[in-house]
Amino acid sequence: MIFRSLAELCEKIEKTTKRSEMIKLTSDFLRQLNQVEIEPAVCMLLGRPFPNTSEERLDVSWATLVDIIYRITGASRRELDAAFAKSGDIGTTTAILFASKKVKRQQLFFERPLQLLEVREILRKVAKLRGAGARRKKQRMIEGLLNRCDPLEAKYVVKIIIGEMRTGFQEGLMEMAVARAFKVPVNLVRRASMFAGDISIVASIAAKSGEEGLRNIGPAPMRPIKPMLAQVVQDIEEAIRIHGGMTSFEYKLDGARVQIHKLGNEIRIFSRRLSDVTTSLPEIVDLASRELKANEAIVEGEVIAVDKWGSPLPFQSLLQRFRREREVERMIREIPVKLQLFDLLYLDGRSLVDLPYEERRERLKSIAGEIELTEQMMTSRPDVGKDFLERAMRAGHEGLMAKRPGSPYTPGIRGKLWLKIKPTLEPLDLVIVGAEFGYGRRHEWLSDYYLAARDEATGKFEIIGKTFKGLTDEEIREMTRELQKLVVRAEGRRIWVLPKIVVEVTYNEIQRSPKYPSGMALRFARITQLRPDKSPIEADTLARVRQIFEGQIKRRRQSG
Ligand code: AMP
Repeated sequence: MIFRSLAELCEKIEKTTKRSEMIKLTSDFLRQLNQVEIEPAVCMLLGRPFPNTSEERLDVSWATLVDIIYRITGASRRELDAAFAKSGDIGTTTAILFASKKVKRQQLFFERPLQLLEVREILRKVAKLRGAGARRKKQRMIEGLLNRCDPLEAKYVVKIIIGEMRTGFQEGLMEMAVARAFKVPVNLVRRASMFAGDISIVASIAAKSGEEGLRNIGPAPMRPIKPMLAQVVQDIEEAIRIHGGMTSFEYKLDGARVQIHKLGNEIRIFSRRLSDVTTSLPEIVDLASRELKANEAIVEGEVIAVDKWGSPLPFQSLLQRFRREREVERMIREIPVKLQLFDLLYLDGRSLVDLPYEERRERLKSIAGEIELTEQMMTSRPDVGKDFLERAMRAGHEGLMAKRPGSPYTPGIRGKLWLKIKPTLEPLDLVIVGAEFGYGRRHEWLSDYYLAARDEATGKFEIIGKTFKGLTDEEIREMTRELQKLVVRAEGRRIWVLPKIVVEVTYNEIQRSPKYPSGMALRFARITQLRPDKSPIEADTLARVRQIFEGQIKRRRQSG
């Protein structure tokens, strides 16, 4: 199959809003592919160069691509900016510049059209490049690839490299397309996809061995499984009610979820997004190989960063551990981590996902050795639950999980079997002092806002966060009009405005951050309402923000 057919399919998908049409077009396309083309094609259609479960990474930035595009097309920065301002999409920008190329490429008459598998092969070679000079070699290879592209092909090669398809065709629709193409039940495709970790792999199996092949896909060591997720509830009462009068509460730790796979002597650790993080966590590897009493197992738990007294530190500290590939030794000393387990999905040749929660936990206890399990208790009484929540918060944790007694493990599903209770911090009234134009659909709107608190000492407004979350499209349009009246300075796609507009903002926590002069930043900020009734002078002060920030730290310290 030639790559152009895939690009043409993407164009058609982009142009329709009908899901049924998208599914039909894609399933017809999948049916025409050779067996070996299916996995790469499904990945590319979803805007990823490789399956989620692959360890291959391209490490090619938009900046690198821009350099290549300049060289190939002879376009200027201004032309690129203009194309981007018009389309709001980097793929389309690329296509526009390719179409208006100043130096027309010498089209050799014997040049073969680009094959779908060739694109995959080149990307694979790019991902393999490491070490000195890798950046330049990567650039050269991608330049070679893009040089062979017409505008439409270039548009999609760029989108695949950057990982932003934006055709509106996502995972769920792909599952339906695969089911239709290979005449297998969609539920089976979905289930298989959770275990296999990527729909592209499932598509390939469905094409080759149909329904039976899919039925044989279950949990297996060294193949990461999509994690089961939780819905939010307001409080303890709601959790108990949803779970039919009785539930099992566990401490909810504010760390990173890990899935630990053991196969004989080998241990591998996968993150929530299924990437392999084994090398960042050598001490967890040691702990697991020493303590897990099983030949083969898949266990799940949470890794948290701790201070030297063993109390939990904010999630942000832990991120530094994951970002580092080098200097792991030093990071181990500076940011020690602790593991607590909460589930067991596979044990010595047998899938446990369909066993009741309590039984999985029992077995987990029996194989966990010295590794701690999350604090847990079962109750039907709200007052007991509230006490337990209070204890979790005092110990510096984030809240509670509630797990329905008797429930199976449902990979990848955010249902009501698991619930989470996170008492949020009180909302703040903040002032918008700047904004940026968005991307894609929002490229003509100021949709990303800088939020500030008032420093009573200086009268200035100090930025403590940024968010694009919370407002409806209509509100964003209105906000854009309002902000444009208040502009004091424009810097590219960013504007700074007079501090006039007050909004109510919720957030998860306040972090220490060098990003803003205030030294603090809101994590997961979200606008919950506009406060036209408030003037900026009535907004929350920097002192108030600092007080909440320090309260968080104190709560964590008290746990010791
Ligand atoms: P959230 O990330 O807010 O959707 O909450 C779900 C996450 O909480 C899971 O993905 C885990 O990383 C984390 N978590 C912390 N403690 C537990 C626990 N005891 N059981 C399950 N998940 C937990």
